[in-house]
Amino acid sequence: MEKSANFIEEIINNDIASGKHTEIITRFPPEPNGYLHIGHAKSLCINFGMKTKYNGKCNLRYDDTNPTKEDVEYVESIKKDIEWLGFEWDAELYASDYFERMYECGVKLINKGLAYVCDMNGEQIREYRGTLVAGGKNSPYRDRTVAENIDLFAKMRSGEFADGSKVLRAKIDMASPNINLRDPILYRVLRDTHHRTGDTWCIYPMYDFAHPLEDAFEGITHSICTLEFEDHRPLYDWVKINCGFENGPRQIEFARLGMNRTIMSKRYLKKLVDDGTVNGWADPRMPTLSGMRERGYPAPAIREFCERVGVAKANSEVDTAMLEYCVRENLNRNADRVMVVKDPIKMIVEGVSAEVYDLENNPNDEVKSYHKTSFSSELFIERDDFMVTPPPKYKRLMVDGTVRLRGAYIVEYVRHEVDENGDVSVVICRAIPDSKSGGENAGMKVKGVIHWVNANDYLPCVLNEFDYLLNDGDGEFSERLNKNSLVVFDKAVCEKSLEKASAYDAFQFMRMGYYSAVSGYGKGGVYEFNRIVTLKDSFKMKK
Ligand code: ATP
Ligand code: MG
Repeated sequence: MEKSANFIEEIINNDIASGKHTEIITRFPPEPNGYLHIGHAKSLCINFGMKTKYNGKCNLRYDDTNPTKEDVEYVESIKKDIEWLGFEWDAELYASDYFERMYECGVKLINKGLAYVCDMNGEQIREYRGTLVAGGKNSPYRDRTVAENIDLFAKMRSGEFADGSKVLRAKIDMASPNINLRDPILYRVLRDTHHRTGDTWCIYPMYDFAHPLEDAFEGITHSICTLEFEDHRPLYDWVKINCGFENGPRQIEFARLGMNRTIMSKRYLKKLVDDGTVNGWADPRMPTLSGMRERGYPAPAIREFCERVGVAKANSEVDTAMLEYCVRENLNRNADRVMVVKDPIKMIVEGVSAEVYDLENNPNDEVKSYHKTSFSSELFIERDDFMVTPPPKYKRLMVDGTVRLRGAYIVEYVRHEVDENGDVSVVICRAIPDSKSGGENAGMKVKGVIHWVNANDYLPCVLNEFDYLLNDGDGEFSERLNKNSLVVFDKAVCEKSLEKASAYDAFQFMRMGYYSAVSGYGKGGVYEFNRIVTLKDSFKMKK
C-alpha cells in the first residue's frame, strides 16, 4: 500500500505540480562539533528520503562556520556514520568554502543600506534588543554611512579590531515582534584557527546569515530543519531575498526527535565523553550512531525506526522501547542462534558419550542452515537453571526433577555438590535413553528446556550488558545518570563455533538475548560480546 504523503512531501508535490521545481535538492547540514546521534538519523532519513523519492539530490554539507568547537575528527566520524546508515550524498561540501562569497553578500547588504557595523558589546546589544513584550532601541551606530560601513567591514576582515569589539548587523527593525529581526548580528570578529581555512579569516558569519546563503549557493530547493528554527524563517527569507536569491530555497521545519531514557544533544553527550562517564563517543550506551554500531544495532533497523516515527509538526518524546522493537525484529529474522552460558556451573551427565549435533541457525530462514555443536558428559549450565530451593512455578532443573537440554537429551537429577561457600559447584544427572528429538522417549513430559555448553570443547568469553544511561524521571541529567549502565560478565562460556565469528556479527544467545561480537573480537584471544537488546519486548507496536 502506498503511504500517504507527509506534510513535507505535500509541499514538494505542489512545487513539482506548479512547475516551480523540476529537480528536488536537499542537504544534510551537520556542524562538525560532535558525533551524529539518533536524532540526526531522523534528519538523514528525511533528507535522503526525499532524494530517493523524487530521484533528486542530497548534499552532505558541513556547517563549519564556528571554528571554536569544530574538528576534523568529527568530520570523519560523520561521513562514516552516514555511509553506515546506507546513504550516499551527491556532493561533499563545506560552508567554509563559501566564506568569500558570504563576505561579498555582507558587502552587498551594506551597499543596499541593509547592514551596518556596530561597536556595541554583547551586553549592550542584548540590552538594546528589548524583550518579548517590549520593543528594542536603535543602536547609536545604526546610521553610519555606506562608505563608512564598507571601510569598517573591510577592516574587521583585515584584523584591525579586537575579538568582540565590532559586529556587522542587519538593518531590519528594532521594533519587530519577532526578536530575530531586531537587527541580528551577521558577522563577528573571532580569532581562532579553523579546521579548513586555518587563520585566513578573523571574522565568521553567524548561523542565521550563513545558512540561507549556503542553501542558496547550492541550489537547494527545500531546506529541511527542526522546529526551533521556525521563528528564524522570516530572517532566513530576508537574507535570501536581499542577497539576490528571490527564488531560492524554502525552509521547512519538522519536529526534532526526542527519546526517553537518553540524551540527544551534542553538548551533553560531549560532556559525558569529556568527564569519562562513558568510554568515548562510540560507547555502546551512547545514542550516537557510532555507539549503536558498536552495540550491534543493524543500520536497517534504525532506518525502519525513523520511518515508523514519521514526520510531525509537533515535538514529542518517543519511547526508546520502540527503537529496541525495531532492532529485535530485525535480529529475529537475521541473527543465528547459538548457546552461551553467562554464569556457569558444571553438569555431569551419566550414560552419554561425546556426540556432535547440527543446530539450526535460524528457525525463520526459508532455506535451513545449521552449525555443529559438540556434546559430552561434562557440560556448563547457567547457575540459576538449577535450584535446590526453587521458587514456586520454577520450570528448570531442581532436586529430583527433570529438564531437557536444548537439542539433546532429557536428564534427571541424581545429586549435587557444593563448594566451601555453600554454592552449588556441580550437579550430576542421568540422561534418559532415547530422549533426543525423534527418540522413543522424546515425548516424555518435562517442564523446562535449558541451554548448555560442552565443558570439554568451549570458548571462554566476556559479555557486556547495558542499561539505559538515564534513570526515569525529569530532573537534571546529571542527577538522573544511571550508575549501573554497564555490567561485565567475564566468566561466560560459549560454543566453540563462535571462534569463527567476526566483529559486528550478531547472534541470538538462546534464552538470553541478542549479542554482537565487539569491534576487536578475538584479538589477543579475548572473545567479547555486547548485548544489543534483550529478547523480551515491553513495547506494543501499533499496526
Ligand atoms: P544538537 O542539538 O544535538 O547539538 P544540532 O541541531 O546542533 O544538534 P547539527 O549538526 O546542527 O546538530 O544538525 C544537523 C541536522 O540534524 C540539522 O538539520 C538538525 O536540525 C538535525 N537534527 C539535529 N538533532 C535532531 C533531532 N533530535 N531530531 C531531528 N533532527 C535533528
Ligand atoms: Mg546546530
